Amino acid sequence: MQLYNKLSAKERASLIEQAGEDRLTLSFYAYAKIGNPQLFRNYLFLAWDQMEVLGRIYVAHEGINAQLSLPATRFDEFKSFLDSTYFLENVRLNIAIEHDLKSFLKLKVKVRDKIVSDGLNDETFDVRNKGVHVDAIKFNELIEDPNTILVDMRNHYESEIGHFQGAITPDVDTFRDSLDIIERDLKEHKEGKNLVMYCTGGIRCEKASAYYKHKGFKKVFQLEGGIIEYARQVENLKLENKFKGKNFVFDHRRSERITEEVVSNCHQCGKACDTHVNCANEACHLLFIQCEECAKSMNDCCSISCKEIAALSFEEQKALRKGIPNSNKIFKKGRSPVLKFKQ
Ligand SMILES: [Zn+2]
Ligand SMILES: [Zn+2]
Repeated sequence: MQLYNKLSAKERASLIEQAGEDRLTLSFYAYAKIGNPQLFRNYLFLAWDQMEVLGRIYVAHEGINAQLSLPATRFDEFKSFLDSTYFLENVRLNIAIEHDLKSFLKLKVKVRDKIVSDGLNDETFDVRNKGVHVDAIKFNELIEDPNTILVDMRNHYESEIGHFQGAITPDVDTFRDSLDIIERDLKEHKEGKNLVMYCTGGIRCEKASAYYKHKGFKKVFQLEGGIIEYARQVENLKLENKFKGKNFVFDHRRSERITEEVVSNCHQCGKACDTHVNCANEACHLLFIQCEECAKSMNDCCSISCKEIAALSFEEQKALRKGIPNSNKIFKKGRSPVLKFKQ
């Protein structure tokens, strides 16, 4: 019985190319009480591996958070599988607008402490006591209301390339940080104002809205299905699109374009740009925004020193890295003193 992915990303990419089939990229989450996450994880892996599902799935005692792709032809089979699991029956699936055959190249189902790393002690509040879920129509109405405060619950590098007009976009690296900052900044509005929040697919707001209600906010609303579902509804119902730019996503596509506006700039030269890249120096891997010209002149690197390292042979690079802890953990996403035009 095979319980773990065995193919490399490269092998998988060529298999997908050979198959030449359409793949859907989708995500969903559910809070539930899962008694034995490891057992549930194995159950999912066996079933989904067989359906050619690829993606990143987190399972915890508190529920499941899944981002994945699968052949379009297997969708019905996949959906019946979900419906046969009691807490996933009719779960809302966020289906991506832009499809990429290679959005995921491995099936990774991981057991975690939490499905979203929130740094919160769950005993202090009830995550089921969440805010009012609103669809795109109601959301558009609410954010026009002068009595509304609109908050982006994502991190700085996500809201940087796209956000709703007029939203507060906290300059934070983690979800935990934004919870505190927003509470501090908005505490005088607990009774009076509508607190309306959104995130990528809704999962962070699920926790955040319960948290703010617990902290005494009276009128808490969250965008159902997040930006992904909003974009879908706006398109289907021909509504006014109040989102500007791109939606950052956590797969190989890195983002989905929602509107043509470019709201950010190249971190190296400052010109309008919203393309995220990772520094080509493997030991750096910094996530930042880089325009095509800078990519060319910098050989896809974030700095001169990374450019020099990336030009060395694989062996020389390996020797340089020896004894140095993985810098991915040291560098923060989208933050580095070398990025002159990071706002
Ligand atoms: Zn540039
Ligand atoms: Zn670099």
